[in-house]
Amino acid sequence: MNFNQLPLHERILKAVADNGYTKPTPIQLKAIPKVAKGADVIGIAQTGTGKTAAFTLPLLSRLVDKTEANEARHTRVLIIAPTRELVQQIHANVRSYAKYTNLRTGVIFGGIGDKGQIAKLESGVDILVATPGRLLDLVDKGHGNFHQIEALVLDEADRMLDMGFIPDIRTIVKKLPKSKQTLLFSATLNSQIQSLTKEFLNSPTVVEVERRASPAETIEQIIYEVQEHQKTELLEHLLNSSHEFYAIMVFARTKLGVEELTTALKMEGITAEAIHGDRSQGQRRRALDEFKKGKVRVLVATDVAARGIDVDGVTHVINYDFPEQSEDYIHRIGRTGRAESKGVAITFVSQRNQQALKKVEKLIQRTLPKKKAEGFEYDQNTPEMERRHTTKTAKKSGRTGLYENKYANRKNNAQAKLPGGAKRKSKGGKSRRKR
Ligand code: AMP
Repeated sequence: MNFNQLPLHERILKAVADNGYTKPTPIQLKAIPKVAKGADVIGIAQTGTGKTAAFTLPLLSRLVDKTEANEARHTRVLIIAPTRELVQQIHANVRSYAKYTNLRTGVIFGGIGDKGQIAKLESGVDILVATPGRLLDLVDKGHGNFHQIEALVLDEADRMLDMGFIPDIRTIVKKLPKSKQTLLFSATLNSQIQSLTKEFLNSPTVVEVERRASPAETIEQIIYEVQEHQKTELLEHLLNSSHEFYAIMVFARTKLGVEELTTALKMEGITAEAIHGDRSQGQRRRALDEFKKGKVRVLVATDVAARGIDVDGVTHVINYDFPEQSEDYIHRIGRTGRAESKGVAITFVSQRNQQALKKVEKLIQRTLPKKKAEGFEYDQNTPEMERRHTTKTAKKSGRTGLYENKYANRKNNAQAKLPGGAKRKSKGGKSRRKR
C-alpha cells in the first residue's frame, strides 16, 4: 500500500513525497485511517517508527479544507510532548508536512524567554506543539485560545509520566473542550499508561506495531564486558580503532558523568559535545546542530535530554553507563538504525550491571552477543568488586584509588588547558529534573 491509498489530503501527500517517503511505515498504515475517522487512538510505538507522521498527517489533512487563509485562528490541534528537543522536532515535521497549506503552526517550550512564544500564540496558530510546563505557565497567564481544540495528542506519554508531568497535563486538559479527539502515544502499555488512557481517552482503539519492546531489526547489538574503571579507555580505544564510528551517541547516567566524559574525549582529540538537563537551551541546540552537521563525532547525553532526538545517520549508540531502566535500553538504541538504515548499539557491561543485563535480555527476548575489543588491554588482575572495595578502604585511609586517580589526573589536565588554569564551571541554569 502506498500513501495515495490512505485518507490524506493531496496537499499533504505532496509534502510527504517531498520528504522522500515512498511507503507508509506499519504504524502509519494502522493509525492514519483511524485518526482520520476521528477515533481516540492509543498508539504503541517507539520513536523511529514514523509515529509523528502517523498522527500529524491525518490531523493536518482534516484541517486543510476547513481553513480559510485570512480567518482568525484558534488552536485546533494541541500536541504535548515531554522535552524541548522533541517538541522542536515534532514542530519541524508538522511545518514540513503543512508546507503546501495555509495552516499556521507554533511551538512552545521552556528554557528560553516567553515573549516570542506569547506573540506567536496571540497571533493565532492552528496547530500548537508544546511541553507541559511552559504551556501551563502561559495558559495560567491567560494566553492562547483553547476553546476550539478538536484534537489533543499526548506523545511519549510514558516518558511524561516518568518525568512527573501528569498533574500539569491534567490541569491543561481541564481547560480544553470535553468533546475532542485524543491520541496517546507511548513506547509501552503498562498499567500506569492504561489508567492514563482511561482518564483521558474515550473508547480508544489500540494500534500497536512490532512486539512490545522489540528494538528495530536493523540494529546490531553488542555487549563489551569491561571493568568500571576502564570504560573511558575502552570508549576511546573503540573510537580510535575504526572510522566506521562516524556519528556516535554516547549515553551516560548523570549530568556530571556526561560532562566528565565529554572533557575526556576532547582531551583525546575526539570531537564531542554534551547534552543534559543543566545545559541551556542554546547550548543544547548548538550541540545538536554541530552533531547533525557532522562537525562533532560524538554526542554525549543523559537519557532525558536525548529523548526523542531524531538525527539521521547515527552510526553507533554506545551505552557507556548501563541504562537504569530496562526500557531505556530500547529508547537509547533506537537513536540508531532509524527508518530502516543500519546501526550498531554497543553496551558496556561491568560486574555490577550483570543483573540489569539479564532484565534487558528478558525484555527484548534475546541474549546479546559479547565481544572483546581487539588490541585493547583489559585489566585482568583486579575484579571490579575488589577494586571498589579497595578504593573505599583507600579513601578511608586517605589514599586515593585508581579510579579516582585517573579522573583526578584528567581533571587536572583539563583545568590546566583552560586559560589561567581556571576551574571549569557548569554554565547550566537550574533544572527541575535531575537528569
Ligand atoms: P519518528 O518515529 O516519528 O521519530 O520518525 C522517525 C524518522 O522516520 C523521521 O526521520 C521521519 O522523517 C522518518 N519517516 C517517517 N515516516 C517515514 C516513511 N514513511 N518513510 C521513510 N521515513 C519516514
